Amino acid sequence: MITASRTHSQPGEQGKNWQRELAEGYRDPAALLRDLGLSAQVIALAGEGRQAFPMRVPRCFAARMERGNPADPLLRQVLPLAEEDRPANGFVMDPVGDMGFRRGGGVLKKYRGRALLITTGACAIHCRYCFRRHFPYAEEHAGKGAWQLALDTIARDSDIREVILSGGDPLSLSDDKLAPLLQGLAAIPHVHRLRIHTRLPVVLPNRVTKALQDMLAAFPGPVTVVLHANHGHEIDDGVGDAVAALRSTGALLLNQAVLLKGINDSAGAQTGLSDALTAIGVAPYYLHQLDPVAGAGHFQVSDETARQLMAELREALPGYMLPRLVREIPGEASKTPLQDKARRVSSRPLINTGK
Ligand SMILES: *Cc1c(COP(=O)(O)O)cnc(C)c1O
Ligand code: SF4
Repeated sequence: MITASRTHSQPGEQGKNWQRELAEGYRDPAALLRDLGLSAQVIALAGEGRQAFPMRVPRCFAARMERGNPADPLLRQVLPLAEEDRPANGFVMDPVGDMGFRRGGGVLKKYRGRALLITTGACAIHCRYCFRRHFPYAEEHAGKGAWQLALDTIARDSDIREVILSGGDPLSLSDDKLAPLLQGLAAIPHVHRLRIHTRLPVVLPNRVTKALQDMLAAFPGPVTVVLHANHGHEIDDGVGDAVAALRSTGALLLNQAVLLKGINDSAGAQTGLSDALTAIGVAPYYLHQLDPVAGAGHFQVSDETARQLMAELREALPGYMLPRLVREIPGEASKTPLQDKARRVSSRPLINTGK
């Protein structure tokens, strides 16, 4: 590690403006590799595609990577590799069929009772496997004008009892931009619950400001924050502090991860992630099978392997530390659970026959 993984990510820099940290993140793969003591020559980097979805990594996240390890699970999530340019069968631009569910103002409604609001296209980190890496945010996010169009769309549909702020990353918006949105949602009588899907408290823990905490605490209904961490090494003390601050608002903290080949596709990596999350008070929620987005074919884990992994995890972990393995199938009314692979019940006979 550049710094030990269980220490504060940026010692002595508490209170540093998170937006400045955001601006100072790595954007040049060669610079990141150099700081990790890796030679750019041994790693084939992506070409053209990199321009459309450039590398972006906060320095405090890079600080949790292991120096000199080209296979580091955090590095592999963010480094644009030449493999991205290789076309893969069935890997497409809009893998989850989002385009057909747009309601205007950035509202996507696919499931009963819940609507997802695309608040912004911006993220603090660019994850190479991201299923929205080709989403036309410029035409579809709510933040472009004011929030009024999104709020009107939600107010018109009384089936929307829960609003999920998504993106991009909703917490890449400033507190000043979020405040009127949360106030607007709180004022819609049928909106009972708020959910925020964000990677910011993991990749840039200083984002969890006092103003954000106050905003969440003030929301009239239950608030759930669904984090996104894929590997236990992403969780350091800075993330623990950010999560403690979020929990102090009364919010429920969950995590979703994506199953990624070479990054977290082993029982050890998954139990490590569940251990690290549970230690800071975050419950594993979903483990997503990769959405087949163009450029991410090299991260794919087969359903067979995924099910086998879940069967192993079920034996290794208490039920509350197990994520649900799901995949998003366009047109389905919910995320689709993948069944565990059948395992032999026991190596010993259930009834002692005396033989
Ligand atoms: C995944 C998703 C949700 C949330 O699904 P849950 O199973 O409630 O977590 C809601 N809306 C859309 C469009 C989604 O893709
Ligand atoms: S933070 Fe989320 S939305 Fe942003 S690039 Fe990563 S996976 Fe995609």
